[in-house]
Amino acid sequence: MKRTCPSGKRLYLHEALAIDALIEANVQLPVGPNRGPVAIYQCDLCGYYHLTSQGQIHPQLEKLINEGTLAKMKRAAEWEKKLKKR
Ligand SMILES: [Zn+2]
Repeated sequence: MKRTCPSGKRLYLHEALAIDALIEANVQLPVGPNRGPVAIYQCDLCGYYHLTSQGQIHPQLEKLINEGTLAKMKRAAEWEKKLKKR
């Protein structure tokens, strides 16, 4: 059964999956002023989790940014894309 949310947003069944997706989305985000999703929340409509670009940054994401880990992951993802093009 495919679960859907009336909001039309992509949903995640568990908080941990939403956090993974949040981090992945930020890794894939091009460098620049674009603001990607910063947090996750539990939806009132479907009871599952969604990503949001509003509100407080998720502590786990903030930690990756502060440690410089996110920047490293971004660079790794860039290289992966370049290598795939060959
Ligand atoms: Zn929902």
